[in-house]
Amino acid sequence: MVRVGLCMLQGARHAHIQSLQHASEQSGIEISIHELRTESQFQKYNCDVFILPGGESTTLRKTGGDRESGGSGLLPALFSHLRKSNSPVLGTCAGAILLCDPDDGGEPLFPASIDRNAYGRQTDSFQDVVDVSLFNSQFPGVFIRAPRFNRSSILCDSIVFHENEVVGIKHNSRIALTFHPELTNDSRFHVWLLQQASHSSE
Ligand code: GLN
Repeated sequence: MVRVGLCMLQGARHAHIQSLQHASEQSGIEISIHELRTESQFQKYNCDVFILPGGESTTLRKTGGDRESGGSGLLPALFSHLRKSNSPVLGTCAGAILLCDPDDGGEPLFPASIDRNAYGRQTDSFQDVVDVSLFNSQFPGVFIRAPRFNRSSILCDSIVFHENEVVGIKHNSRIALTFHPELTNDSRFHVWLLQQASHSSE
């Protein structure tokens, strides 16, 4: 049984539950999904893998920030755990922003820098096929006010490409994507996440 921690601070999070259920059926890996909003839920559920969904990174930082500043304490607890462990993570869109730029004075969780809302106003949101080297195939990319990795800053594996951009990176058992796989019927990134946990517990 893989315990999945889904950070439910804001934004496209319910779609991740569907993708996870689909991924569990496809892979045969049994899961329990734990919705995490606060530091105490984070401690209580002791999850094996984590999903950091999209939303608005400024809002996520506020609602999940440290308790002294009125936040729920979830993000500081998660980031400090991730710095001490190899726990697998999938971060999508604003989730990728937080992982590359935790803004808590500590080390970034991915060795890459990222710019918010980098596609400009006219093309705020779009859908297009992306190329995933990790799966050796294409994937439907749903980009919503997406950020952009600074290509020259990436010091881990580039695994997803759209035109001249890198739109997905992988660092050991962690993936950050600038698009939203949970808004498609394709749950291969969620399957990948579950497999990381079952490999690491073998
Ligand atoms: N534009 C958002 C931000 O800057 C990210 C958008 C998303 O997660 N879909 O945080």
